[in-house]
Amino acid sequence: MEITAAVVKEKGSNFELTKVNLDKPGAEEVLVKIVATGICHTDMVARDFIMGAPNFPVILGHEGSGIIEEVGADVHHLKVGDHVVLTYGFCGECEICRTGHPAYCYEFFGRNFSGADIEGNHHHHELDGTDINDNFFSQSSFATYSIAHKNNVVAVPKDAPLEILGPLGCGIQTGAGAIINTLNVKAGSSVVISGTGAVGLSAVMAAKALSATTIIAVDINEERLAFSKELGATHTINSLKENVQERIREILPLGVQYGVDTTGRNEVINNTLASLAPIGELAIIGVATKPLELETNVFLTKGYKIKFVNQGDSVSAEFIPKLIKMYQNGQFPFDKLIKQYAFEDINVAIEDSEKGRTIKAVLLIDKYATSV
Ligand SMILES: [Zn+2]
Ligand SMILES: [Zn+2]
Repeated sequence: MEITAAVVKEKGSNFELTKVNLDKPGAEEVLVKIVATGICHTDMVARDFIMGAPNFPVILGHEGSGIIEEVGADVHHLKVGDHVVLTYGFCGECEICRTGHPAYCYEFFGRNFSGADIEGNHHHHELDGTDINDNFFSQSSFATYSIAHKNNVVAVPKDAPLEILGPLGCGIQTGAGAIINTLNVKAGSSVVISGTGAVGLSAVMAAKALSATTIIAVDINEERLAFSKELGATHTINSLKENVQERIREILPLGVQYGVDTTGRNEVINNTLASLAPIGELAIIGVATKPLELETNVFLTKGYKIKFVNQGDSVSAEFIPKLIKMYQNGQFPFDKLIKQYAFEDINVAIEDSEKGRTIKAVLLIDKYATSV
C-alpha cells in the first residue's frame, strides 16, 4: 500500500514527507494506522548516524500510537480496532527476555537499530521498488502506517487519549521505569534527578507518585527547574550557579538515597555519586559522548550501587497500562510535557526539541492517512 513517511535521505539531513510503498504485515506482525508519534533524542542520534546505524535513506520514529488495521496469522493477543502504543523490539524467547528484562534482549540491536527486520528484510520501498531502511525500534512510526512485531505492540484502554500516548513507549517509560522498576524508590525517601528533559521530568513525576519526600532536580535551565517544581520536585539546583554537592548536603546532611542521571556527563555523575548516602543507588540512563571516569577510591568505601538502565527496564505490556492508570488517577500528569505538531511540521518540531523550546514534541499523523 502507498503511505506517507518522513524519510531522512542522508546523514544529518531534514525529514522529507515522501510517498512510499509498505508491504503487507508478516505472520507475527500487525499493520497499525498511526495516530501520533513522539519525537525522542534517539531519532536525532540516528539521523546524525552517531551509532553507525541504521543506514540511509531511513524512516525513523519510535514513539508511535495508533489503531490496528490488520493482524498476521500468528498474532493472537491483538485484534483489528485495538488502540495500541508501540514500544521497543525484543525477541521474547532468549533467557534475558524470559527472566523479565526484555530491554536487554540479545537481539536488541538487530530489532531496533539494524534498519531491517531480524531476518534482514525491508518493509518499505521507494515507488520505483528500491528498499528503504526501516524497522526502527520495530516500528518506523514517522509515517501514516507502521508494521510492528507482535512483541512491541501494547494494547491500551480506549478511554485514554491515544494521540498523546506514544511517548510512553520510550522516553517516558525510560524515566519513570528508572524510578519504579530499577530503583524501586521507597516512600519517604530522597532522590536526586540530573537533567530535566522529558526523561528526567518523567522520573520526577514517578518519584512523587511513589511518595519520595525529597526530590531534587538539577539542571542549568531555570525555566525547566521551575517547571520541575510543578511536577513534584521539592528542591532545585542550577548547576551553573550553585555547587551541587554543597547544596545537596545543605538539604540532606547525610546524603541522598537515590540518584538518576539523564545527562551521561562525567562531572554530573561524579557530583551525584559524591552526594549519595552510604549504600546509595544510582541509575544511569543518559547517553554519553565520552567514557565515564569515576572517583573509584572514594566511592568503594560507600557501597554504592550503579546500574546502567535501558528503557527503564520496562516490561512494556505491563508498565505502559500501569502508567496510563497512574495518569488517569492524576498521579502521573505526563501530558504536561507534550506539545503537539502537525506531521508536515516535523522539522520545526525537531528543531524546537533540539533547542529545548519543547520538552516532548508529538506529531499528529492520522489525518494524513489514506484508508486501506
Ligand atoms: Zn530476547
Ligand atoms: Zn527514545
